[in-house]
Amino acid sequence: MNKDKTSKNSNKDIYTNALKVMPGGVSRNTVLRKPYPHYAAMAKGCYVNDIDGIERIDFANNMASLIHGHGHPAIIEAVTEQLQKGTAYTLATEAEVRFAEHIISRAEGFEKIRFVNSGTEAVMAMIKASRAFTGKPMIAKAEGAYHGTYDFSEVSQAASPDNWGDLDNPNSVPLTHGTPQMVADNVLIYPFNDVERTLKILDQHVDKIAAVLIDPVPHRVGLIKANNEFINAIHDWTRKHGALMIFDEVITFRVNYGGTQEEFSVKPDLTSMGKMIGGGFPVGAFAGRSDVMSVLDPTQPGKLKFPHSGTFSANPITMTAGRVAMELYDENAVRSLNKLTQTAMKQILEAIKIADVPVSITGTGSMLRIHLKSKAPQNYREAWHNPKEAALLVKLLDYLFFEEKIMMVNTGSCMLSTALSQKEIDQLSDGMLNAFKHIRSELLKLN
Ligand code: PMP
Repeated sequence: MNKDKTSKNSNKDIYTNALKVMPGGVSRNTVLRKPYPHYAAMAKGCYVNDIDGIERIDFANNMASLIHGHGHPAIIEAVTEQLQKGTAYTLATEAEVRFAEHIISRAEGFEKIRFVNSGTEAVMAMIKASRAFTGKPMIAKAEGAYHGTYDFSEVSQAASPDNWGDLDNPNSVPLTHGTPQMVADNVLIYPFNDVERTLKILDQHVDKIAAVLIDPVPHRVGLIKANNEFINAIHDWTRKHGALMIFDEVITFRVNYGGTQEEFSVKPDLTSMGKMIGGGFPVGAFAGRSDVMSVLDPTQPGKLKFPHSGTFSANPITMTAGRVAMELYDENAVRSLNKLTQTAMKQILEAIKIADVPVSITGTGSMLRIHLKSKAPQNYREAWHNPKEAALLVKLLDYLFFEEKIMMVNTGSCMLSTALSQKEIDQLSDGMLNAFKHIRSELLKLN
């Protein structure tokens, strides 16, 4: 249902003004759309209206952060109550302790936790804690995996055929121009899920590795789950060589009640979280083994190994919203959202067959991603889009956005929320069918 315009300005007018005050006219590149971004007016449940009054179904959910969609009444009520009492103090709050207790109770390996303000910060702090605990400088991360914008976790986030090098020893490719060489020198790149190559790479730097960083379902690598063999091998290697195995579950904590890690018999030493655990507000957290987390403990005797603070860390608004959101995301909610996602994947697969297009789909839990490739990718190099594929993906997503009134993540992914129902899933698969037909002739030329 389309509503009235809510601004006297058009999207184009606002963007013209935005270009004068922000590089590219935006504060985050993910909201860009050609010829101009669309500006939000309001949102409720799984629907978002832009300022032209056009309503769309939200399958992006602020990049996977709104597990209950927009404006869940219980979250609004709890946050409104807290707003009256204050938004941030130079005092600790009980809200923070209650939320810490809740998150700790969800996963077997969580003994201590600290809160920060973003996923980037959580991964950064987790890496620094690993270095402080082991006294070693290097980390290893998967080629193509996104872990936020800390110098070290950015390495090889966007490696491409012209710079990624030999698969046996992938290059460490800094992302931001001007990154000091010592950053790349301290980040080893491994091919995801490739046990043999990864162990050989790690073996070359046995005494220097503080931690092996793993996103158990890395979105940019292709949204493929880490296999048991890989996790067990990394766990064994890290035990043998005094290193840590650390998980980035900033997106993937949603996969089970206790994160994707619930599915593995061995557990990470530390885990970063973010996105959905903030209940719609900025958040990050890292949790894990007590002895490792003690590097952050200023009450211990001796020199503090990792001094850590943050002005808005554990602010009571985020802590309250996060606790309510996570309590609502109980075992039943996780199960039914995952089931709805399975249905969505089945229906999209059917649409792919009917349209007879070389498209594939991957997914886990409440996340799915489509690939403009006939065979589902198994690793980053297979998932990588060349410029023609990338341009066609934009065309597909634009068709869905403008014609079908469906919003997805710009990688071709959907991050579902509990606000969605079968009705919206049907609209998604019908919309995809139309979109596949729309780009079919160009798709066939690509493959
Ligand atoms: N890690 C992962 C796996 C992520 O997907 C993201 C964000 N997309 C981050 C870290 C960084 O989180 P934030 O944007 O909150 O800094």
